[in-house]
Amino acid sequence: MRFDYDLFVIGGGSGGVRAGRIAAGHGAKTAMAEEYRMGGTCVIRGCVPKKLMVYASHFGELAEDAAGYGWTFGEHSFDWPTLISNKDKEINRLESAYAGTMARAGVEVFKARAHLADPHTIAMPGIGRTLTAKHILVATGGSPVRPASLEGVEHTITSNEVFDLPEMPRRIVIMGGGYIAVEFAGIFHGLGAQVTQIYRGPKFLRGFDDDLRDGLARAMTARGIDLRLDTKVKRIERHGDLRRVILEDGSAIDADQVLIALGRDPNVQGLGLDKVGISQKANGAIIVDEYSTTSVPHIYAVGDVTDRLALTPVAIAEGHAFADTVFGGKARKADHTNVATAVFSQPPIGTIGLGEQDALAKGHRLDIYMAEFRPMFHTMTGRAEKVMMKLVVDADSDRMLGVHILGSDAAEIIQAVAIAVKMGATKADFDATVAVHPTAGEELVTMRQKTRSGITL
Ligand code: NDP
Repeated sequence: MRFDYDLFVIGGGSGGVRAGRIAAGHGAKTAMAEEYRMGGTCVIRGCVPKKLMVYASHFGELAEDAAGYGWTFGEHSFDWPTLISNKDKEINRLESAYAGTMARAGVEVFKARAHLADPHTIAMPGIGRTLTAKHILVATGGSPVRPASLEGVEHTITSNEVFDLPEMPRRIVIMGGGYIAVEFAGIFHGLGAQVTQIYRGPKFLRGFDDDLRDGLARAMTARGIDLRLDTKVKRIERHGDLRRVILEDGSAIDADQVLIALGRDPNVQGLGLDKVGISQKANGAIIVDEYSTTSVPHIYAVGDVTDRLALTPVAIAEGHAFADTVFGGKARKADHTNVATAVFSQPPIGTIGLGEQDALAKGHRLDIYMAEFRPMFHTMTGRAEKVMMKLVVDADSDRMLGVHILGSDAAEIIQAVAIAVKMGATKADFDATVAVHPTAGEELVTMRQKTRSGITL
């Protein structure tokens, strides 16, 4: 049977773009459909604009900190439309860069919504095209959850809308306790808004080390964020421009916007997955094997639509491994172990490997090393905020199971530490490493005193 393409990729985000480019480089005749904007969530309404907004939110605090170093600035103010318009310019530039990369790689891109009409046929009714492909990759990502059970959910915004608000909210309520909620709490607080964050459980950032979770909650509260843990929302009302969040205890919080960050669902609606027999998890995510193969052997899926590890670099790794395996003649699995991650909260988190609780649950006997100290920068600013560093070490093998950092530059530091942890470094390897002085990171190689020794569950 002859096909129009060797590979058709549905979705032009991080995973799809990498897979398409590498497959084309291996000689595959490749096409892609993207219904919205090239670059996907990370570039258009995720990691990239978020990080730009994190930068924007630092300046007020830096201006205050500068006083301790002898600086005085005149009147200063923040202009939301300037930030949004400059952010848009950068996102447009990146979007064009992605389109350019596809064009240079020889990947034909259709600006259209695509679905599977049969196991080898892709239909794009919006542009009246139907094409066939030998292999198909689904890389459609995810979308913010909007729970129908939340009364008044129609009065809320998600991370899809928050980057393009015409005005900055002066008061904002943020629901959720994951990455997006804590990151936007820090952004809006830094930009001068009154922020209330509501989380249903006793500790936010489920899955992270408990000391980091507690440390961040303390730091955010100390900065002035109204963090309500163990708090549930009953409904959201709208009165003109005002949103009123009614809590289960009957009390109310008024705000200009309510941002919900309650997780993301895989984008599978209308893709025709059931028609071609692709197995899905209960939440709709596509089930794949280690090579990202679905239950239909020539159809693959990578990235958030598979609900494995919903992080951009992981989607890229999965897309690349898929293309090398199927078109490059070298079978490769994306490795999901020891993936470092950063939360761009304020202060930020950088983390890799197991937290103390997870390591204990896996049966390890642990030595824990912890340091909490005022970073040098703040010795002159008067700010009380501390840096926390924690090493989770297997007491029997001396292997470094986890490294956890809360404090400025955590994201930058953890990237380098991740190499050592990935290579299987031991605590002795950390000890044998000479410090870089004066830095915060040097603490990672100078901790000698065990905070807890030989602990088990
Ligand atoms: P997360 O999955 O990280 O967190 C969802 C949060 O919402 C959890 O605190 C969860 O609570 C809570 N929640 C879920 N359902 C409800 C409900 N019905 N009522 C109240 N609370 C609820 O999702 P996010 O939306 O924050 O982020 C999505 C994903 O995007 C992340 O998992 C991450 O993979 C990725 N991301 C990565 C970033 C980075 O690398 N820096 C930045 C931003 C996003 P509970 O824990 O109790 O279930």
